[in-house]
Amino acid sequence: NAYLEHQEKVYSYAQKEREDRQEIESGKVFDYLVVGAGLYGAVFANEACKAGKTAVVIDKRDHIGGNVYTSRRDNIDVHEYGAHIFHTSDKKVWEYVNQYAEFNHYINSPVARYKDELYNLPFNMNTFSKMWGLYTPEQVQAKIEEQRAEYIAQKKKERGLAPEEAFVPQNLEEQAISLAGTDIYEKLIREYTQKQWGRPCTELPAFIIRRLPLRFTYDNNYFNDRYQGIPIGGYTQMVEKLLSGVPVMTGIDYRTFAKKYAGKYRKVIYTGPIDEYFDYRLGHLQYRTVRFETEELDMPNFQGNAVVNYTGSEAPWTRIIEHKWFEFGKDLEGNDLPKTIISREYSTEWQPGMEPYYPVNDEANMKLYEQYKKLAEKEPGVLFGGRLGTYRYYNMDQVILQAWEMAEKELKTRILVGSV
Ligand code: FAD
Repeated sequence: NAYLEHQEKVYSYAQKEREDRQEIESGKVFDYLVVGAGLYGAVFANEACKAGKTAVVIDKRDHIGGNVYTSRRDNIDVHEYGAHIFHTSDKKVWEYVNQYAEFNHYINSPVARYKDELYNLPFNMNTFSKMWGLYTPEQVQAKIEEQRAEYIAQKKKERGLAPEEAFVPQNLEEQAISLAGTDIYEKLIREYTQKQWGRPCTELPAFIIRRLPLRFTYDNNYFNDRYQGIPIGGYTQMVEKLLSGVPVMTGIDYRTFAKKYAGKYRKVIYTGPIDEYFDYRLGHLQYRTVRFETEELDMPNFQGNAVVNYTGSEAPWTRIIEHKWFEFGKDLEGNDLPKTIISREYSTEWQPGMEPYYPVNDEANMKLYEQYKKLAEKEPGVLFGGRLGTYRYYNMDQVILQAWEMAEKELKTRILVGSV
């Protein structure tokens, strides 16, 4: 059944691609060319169609979905660009996405592995009681306070500060220990952060960790949001639904499309990198990126959890994702899956030509972005959006809100969803 369904989908998708191409190549002039078939582009195009406008969506990758793209391998939905967990406290966003996908009840509860010790994340009573053999919040708070106070006193002495003078952390190490104490820092923060940023914590600015949420309850749910889950059958299906009725062309870059189909659209919604649009004329914006090493294993269960963070330096990767656990290890018909697929994630410095993932929103990069933004505001007929177009990290729900904002302004429409 699953095979036939898959074949049917491949067939209908190929047919849609053919029809889309015919439509694009016909004499039709579209109201919008949406560059990027990620969540932002798909939501905007969807709203444009609902508002009676026409849109064509293109992407330089050979698939839709942008970074939320999932591919089905061995009946497992593989998150090809990193684990994506949908979470939001916005009821309207939740109802909106539920129109396009059925979500399961997945709750993100990562585990941290430090050498051969395992700890629950986020930092909560399960983590603390494993670390110190303590049971009550009061005991744990006292323990953390004792470690913080000892460290801060020592640092003040080193800096020649009087006990009543304020201690201002000068780097990420000082910030983390003064918030969470030495044990948590050494086992769960130090080496993990160093792997993420490629530099020791003593050379990283304190502001990277503004707060360190410590939970004094036995609660392993990583997110505080009201709604959470994974679209059953993957994210690609959800984006497909958002784009049904919208012609799409993948595997084509904006410049190539613009040359080939000049005059076939009135306005551009651009969700690619803003600096690339302007041919990097003011310089490159910087990103951190992640390299994924994905492996199929002939075993049913590799690590027993979707997300395991490796917080020690003995492993060069930051995390291992075991994709099947996002859907409870079952196929779409509820059968157990005999195999598994894992991805090791390596955090690396971004170089031109690599996938840009996390914008480095430090002072120098933000200054450069502001200059590009000024150029963008003067660019006739082009509007910039999405995480690359505005050089900001957005969660999926935030990107949807951003696309709605653009749609409401540009299409003079109001986003209406179910009860909200
Ligand atoms: P994208 O998805 O990047 O889409 C932009 C598209 O534009 C791309 O497909 C690109 O190929 C295309 N493009 C770029 N330039 C051109 C061009 N010149 N011509 C044609 N096409 C072009 N959010 C959550 O809520 N939960 C999570 O758990 C989560 N995990 C994440 C994990 C990782 C590793 C990363 C990097 C992000 C994660 N996010 C998560 C954030 C989420 O991925 C983004 O919010 C969302 O994908 C942004 O959508 P977008 O449309 O703005 O960008």
